[in-house]
Amino acid sequence: MLDYDFHCHSNISDGTLTPTELVQRAAGRGVKAMALTDHDDVDGLDEARAVAESLGMQFINGVEISVSWRSHTLHIVGLNVDHHYPPLVEGLSGVRSGRGARAQKMSDELAKAGVGGVLAGAYKYASNPNMIGRTHFARYLVESGQCKDVKSVFNRYLAKGKPGYVPHQWANLADAISWINGAGGVAVLAHPGRYMVGKHSMGKKTMLELLAEFAELGGRAVEVVTGSHTQEQYAEFARYAEQFNLLSSVGSDFHGPQESYRDLGRLPDLPLICRPVWQLFLVQ
Ligand code: AMP
Ligand code: MN
Ligand code: MN
Ligand code: MN
Repeated sequence: MLDYDFHCHSNISDGTLTPTELVQRAAGRGVKAMALTDHDDVDGLDEARAVAESLGMQFINGVEISVSWRSHTLHIVGLNVDHHYPPLVEGLSGVRSGRGARAQKMSDELAKAGVGGVLAGAYKYASNPNMIGRTHFARYLVESGQCKDVKSVFNRYLAKGKPGYVPHQWANLADAISWINGAGGVAVLAHPGRYMVGKHSMGKKTMLELLAEFAELGGRAVEVVTGSHTQEQYAEFARYAEQFNLLSSVGSDFHGPQESYRDLGRLPDLPLICRPVWQLFLVQ
């Protein structure tokens, strides 16, 4: 078992814990090195680093950038970034800027589907209102008794093709990778298996084209072990990493104690054929 976790969220995006609580929880579970990877925002990093270092953990700056690629939404994790690098800061600000209008539209669409007046309720869950997103809506719809849990809200209302889903234009892939590389970081294709499940998912051919394009644009790693992959997917993406000469990463994608597939840390080891991405930045 690894004591590393390079993908998780605080309430700066759609996690439920503050950066301090998140890092304390990780330390309490034995995590030795971690990255905080909030969606489209780096505001939690200084607080998280201070707590991590006071607890003797290695802390890696991270971010998870929302990207539109062809008809798909992808997430690109940036690890070990200089979070003050101006093009990254400005790029993320641009990615965040559409979220308010999108939330308004989501609320309108949900009202048409018979679930009215949820905007204010969703904002109650967004500690950082600039980062209002689907998870905050989901939490409010659970609170108001519409669905039993967050997962069911997505299945019924918020996943692509469902009544509360609002298409959105995020960053483009080349820009996201260049902000990360320019900031001295490593671009990691997050939870690739997730892009291959569900009604609007990509097939294997498209996944191979994505991996080729990602590598060509300067992407350097793939998340092989993540909370949303099966054992078979660990093996599958380990093979793709090898095929495309990419490094491999591990992360829980933890969002909160009651909601996540996996808690922080204690993740399975990478398959042996993988070259770990942390060779690039961890002090061993
Ligand atoms: P957004 O950036 O506002 O579109 O929200 C994306 C976030 O929604 C993801 O990072 C997940 O935290 C969450 N999410 C997406 N799909 C699901 C799902 N099927 N079940 C639970 N959470 C999901
Ligand atoms: Mn999320
Ligand atoms: Mn993600
Ligand atoms: Mn994530």
